[in-house]
Amino acid sequence: MTQDDILARFPRAILMSGPTPVERLDRMSKELGIDLWLKRDDLTGLGFGGNKTRQLEFYIGDAVQKGADTILITGAVQSNYVRSAAAAAARLGMQSVLQLEERVPDMGPDYYTSGNVLLAKLLGAEHMSYPEREDESGADAALHARAEELKVQGRKPYVIHLGLHHPPLGALGYVSAGLELQRQMPDFDAVVVPSGSGATHAGLLTGLALEGGASSVFGVCVRRDSNKQIARMRIVLQKLADLLNIEAAPLLDKIRVLDEALPPGYGQLGANTHSALKKMVRTEGVFLDPVYSAKTFAGLLHLVAVGEIDQGQKVVMLHTGGLPALFGYQNELISDLPSGMED
Ligand SMILES: *Cc1c(COP(=O)(O)O)cnc(C)c1O
Repeated sequence: MTQDDILARFPRAILMSGPTPVERLDRMSKELGIDLWLKRDDLTGLGFGGNKTRQLEFYIGDAVQKGADTILITGAVQSNYVRSAAAAAARLGMQSVLQLEERVPDMGPDYYTSGNVLLAKLLGAEHMSYPEREDESGADAALHARAEELKVQGRKPYVIHLGLHHPPLGALGYVSAGLELQRQMPDFDAVVVPSGSGATHAGLLTGLALEGGASSVFGVCVRRDSNKQIARMRIVLQKLADLLNIEAAPLLDKIRVLDEALPPGYGQLGANTHSALKKMVRTEGVFLDPVYSAKTFAGLLHLVAVGEIDQGQKVVMLHTGGLPALFGYQNELISDLPSGMED
């Protein structure tokens, strides 16, 4: 059995055209004293790209196999997932229902109108809102209630579950990405990824291991602190291993997370995140997003500063996309630029 066969039995909708590039960041490498590469999953293509395209290949594949005509999904107001799901639904000729949760406090008007919100509206998706900040099961229940209403109307709804009580189908997309990266670049020492729901982190860690990779996989906490994230990762990895019918124990041993880049909290732009975002674009011309990839880079800078990543090591950072959120956070991003640059 080849490693690709392990994914072949899961239904899959092809939403991207091939492997994403891995690019060397020459100037940043020199500045940090490491050999730094960027895996460009911001370039997965569909509807502004990002990591959700890979995850959706397996959810949408399952939805198609089950005869669904409507995709339902829940996320933060500036969620990349709901925007990508609406784009995938459009591609497959399905409708979509997007539930937006009030997860981030004290945001300005752009947060509610620009960026991913604008894109999802252009995609023609139905919108619902959910008022609670941290209530994964409540948000799921509200989505199910809407699905039941749609069934009564003769529609065939499919709910994409992001909670821990469901098989992590989206992580399969990152198992595939792990196989892809390990083949593109067999000899790196460490990879740095955002760890949110954990689907990306767990999938990549598993895919790299399946392909015989021995690098360290650092997950940068973007949603919750490291204690909670380790507990979550153990569950996601166990469920993923069950889905793939492989041993979980060797994978559980490889969980490494850091939460230094998390403050002040999910979706909130701290000073370190803001400066990491500007450092990357001003050194390499590569934009990062304020919620995930800039925090991931801030985490990488921390790992280099404390010597967890050694000088001279070959390091891959996963760029998971999310760039439309730049426009949802424009007030926060512009706030410390010298006056005169605002206009
Ligand atoms: C959702 C998201 C993440 C987090 O991925 P998980 O698989 O939920 O951990 C990271 N980056 C971007 C841009 C995202 O949209």
